[in-house]
Amino acid sequence: MKLCMIGTGYVGLVSGTCFADIGHTVYCVDNDINKIKKLNSGQSPIYEPGLDELIKENYRAKRLFFTTNISEALRKSDIIFICVGTPNKKNTLSVDLSYVFYAAKEILKFSKNKKIIVTKSTVPVGTGDLIEKYLKNQKKFTVISNPEFLREGEAIRDFRYPDRIVVGSNSLHALKIMKNLYLPLINKGAKFFTTNRRGAELIKYAANAFLATKITFINEIANLCEKTGINVEDISLGMGSDVRIGSRFLRPGPAYGGSCFPKDTKGLVSIGDKVKIDLSIVKSVIKSNENRKYLLLKRIDHILGKNIKNKKIVFLGVTFKPNTDDMRDAASLFMIPKLLKRKAIVSYYDPTGEKKEFSKLKKCIFYPDIHNACKNADLIILHTEWDEFKSLDFNKLVKKRKFILYDLRNLYNIQEMKRKKIRYFSIGR
Ligand code: NAD
Repeated sequence: MKLCMIGTGYVGLVSGTCFADIGHTVYCVDNDINKIKKLNSGQSPIYEPGLDELIKENYRAKRLFFTTNISEALRKSDIIFICVGTPNKKNTLSVDLSYVFYAAKEILKFSKNKKIIVTKSTVPVGTGDLIEKYLKNQKKFTVISNPEFLREGEAIRDFRYPDRIVVGSNSLHALKIMKNLYLPLINKGAKFFTTNRRGAELIKYAANAFLATKITFINEIANLCEKTGINVEDISLGMGSDVRIGSRFLRPGPAYGGSCFPKDTKGLVSIGDKVKIDLSIVKSVIKSNENRKYLLLKRIDHILGKNIKNKKIVFLGVTFKPNTDDMRDAASLFMIPKLLKRKAIVSYYDPTGEKKEFSKLKKCIFYPDIHNACKNADLIILHTEWDEFKSLDFNKLVKKRKFILYDLRNLYNIQEMKRKKIRYFSIGR
């Protein structure tokens, strides 16, 4: 089949490349000319394990194309995926659908024959109805919902072996076409789940809000553990072994971040507000996660002593999770400026390199080498659980005799740290 992905970001690029890899012809469109130039010169604009090779293979096989020319891409395609961003509107909970409607405008302008329009972007309940209206209810357009569940860092595996593929449409014919599109994955055991369009739209928000709730829950339990002398890992294990609960997303850490949970929890609350349904659980998850950012800063005060002026604080990893370069809503974005404001000297090392988000901050120094970053540290904050941070010899890494390690991911063993005479703090234990 011939597909057009409007938006070649984390979702459009990965799913477009993977669709090409299972045999479809895919035109990835973006209005960011630099992104398209980079892709056409054989480089991926994002860090995602395995993606570079897959792009190269499918590009060479002429199944994958990158362009800014949306009219041509639309003309050549039968199925159009909308994969543009859906951020929150500034200072509100509601979802900014302007990118989605701009894409719809272009579809209306340039599509001459029958098209299936698929929203892969995460969109509020009823957006499919609005797009249909926007497209003047023309019979040649069928609008369906196919939310994306891939996780950055594991995105290719998630595409190839999804827990489920969700498609929402009231048209049996469109569902049949979508099933054919995903057939190579379905044949390998992927569950193909269909519902109506609004149902599919809500599944995505409900799933993300539930996962965010699980993380927030264990973060609060970790706070309780710290006050009561209990190891939160025992609680995670003891709880998570119950199959009704499950062990995943029960590991405490900093406030959750990333491109989805913060915006989708807020988006869900605003969907509820619109129809006067009080989603009180999700509201308190958002509040608890906000509070957590301050709580961890307080903990740093406690660890370092109130006067943090001129203290050298080093972040190991700044992205919201490992195996991605995505900085959206990472806890470090909140913590680093706050520490700098209090005159600490902050530096960081991240396997995906320097971050533009910190480039304007005076005294926030990036080190491309972990040894140089840690050499003179007073406090090391282990922020992101990259594999390369899992077995470091801190006594060799830091030249100072007295330094402190604050492990926000519980990667190290407390007893071992004691044995090595390292002042060590972690989460909920
Ligand atoms: P992104 O910001 O990485 O990518 C969006 C891309 O769309 C950008 O490259 C932008 O330049 C492009 N774009 C915007 N308007 C355009 C237009 N009119 N024509 C062509 N290109 C246009 O965003 P993302 O992370 O890929 O997320 C996209 C959607 O998928 C969001 O709704 C998000 O919630 C959802 N989602 C994201 C993830 C994830 O892990 N990132 C997972 C599941 C779902």
